[in-house]
Amino acid sequence: MTQVTVSASKAYEVQIGTALLDTVGEQVKKLEGKVQRVAVITDSNVAPLYLPRVETSLKNAGIATISYVFPAGEESKNGETYLSIVEWLASQELTRNACILALGGGVVGDLAGFVAATYLRGIAFIQVPTTLLAAVDSSVGGKTAIDLEAGKNLVGAFYQPRLVLCDLDTFDTLSPAVFADGCAEVIKYGMIRSANLLADLKGTHIKNQLEEVVAQCVGMKRDIVEADEFEQGERKLLNFGHTLGHAIEKQSKYSVSHGKAVAIGMVLITKAAVKQGVCPEECLTLLESLLEKYELPSNTVFSIEELFDGAMADKKRSGDSIDIVIPVAVGKSEIKRIDMEKLKHWIEMGKQ
Ligand code: MG
Repeated sequence: MTQVTVSASKAYEVQIGTALLDTVGEQVKKLEGKVQRVAVITDSNVAPLYLPRVETSLKNAGIATISYVFPAGEESKNGETYLSIVEWLASQELTRNACILALGGGVVGDLAGFVAATYLRGIAFIQVPTTLLAAVDSSVGGKTAIDLEAGKNLVGAFYQPRLVLCDLDTFDTLSPAVFADGCAEVIKYGMIRSANLLADLKGTHIKNQLEEVVAQCVGMKRDIVEADEFEQGERKLLNFGHTLGHAIEKQSKYSVSHGKAVAIGMVLITKAAVKQGVCPEECLTLLESLLEKYELPSNTVFSIEELFDGAMADKKRSGDSIDIVIPVAVGKSEIKRIDMEKLKHWIEMGKQ
């Protein structure tokens, strides 16, 4: 088991290892301030697989448990589901001595985290990610959100969990497509910050070095979050591929998954950067070969106009300009503020 401590506005542990689900109850008992009840929030995919084990572990530790299961999928990450959950918590008379436990992938973590950040003006919460994507990215760092019609993650809060328990055994039940989504975020970490990670991913399949890779990514995220918890600067690096990725997700009505959309977004920006002469060709070649290896796409059917329109709704936009993340060397990226008009030019170059 690997343990990473994140010293954000509140310090917490991220545990990465196997057979951790059965330890949930004991670990909740050890948390500061006595947690008397746990409300598990999960989705219809994860509940049949792992909810009984989590409930049993909590019960064995003498902690009362209630559970809420919503329909799996990005379509559920909205205001309607959010209100149903908080109304349910109130009807169950959940008070501040309770704790929310997010059991699932990125949608569950973002939604349950936002519930925890806002219910009773904030109650404790724990992330138990069950996908590679949630483990390396969304469960650590305290970003919580729901989507609006206008775009992804437009309502949310920075709210750190009290504990993150990443049981790698849960990845065994992921479909190849969902596992690949997580690989896209792993490749992203390599592109923004680590030539070593890119070399590891090229040399050995992620599946054969799962704990090391997840720990490396969480370690990088920890460093970035500790330096810039509220995304004023460096944290924006984590958005590499995400401006156009979110545009693709939105234009496809979320039929293109997050990881696949980010993969395409990374290629578009890297291609454009090579054409502008700010990024060496080998960066693009390596990115494309890794995406192929991990069964991820590198192009999209959406037009320049459609991608641009989608990017206009991005919350990273501020007025007429936007921060984009550009690779400048293998394992190194930089943040650059450009005019929205220029973004259109970047998309054109990326699409060519
Ligand atoms: Mg992401």
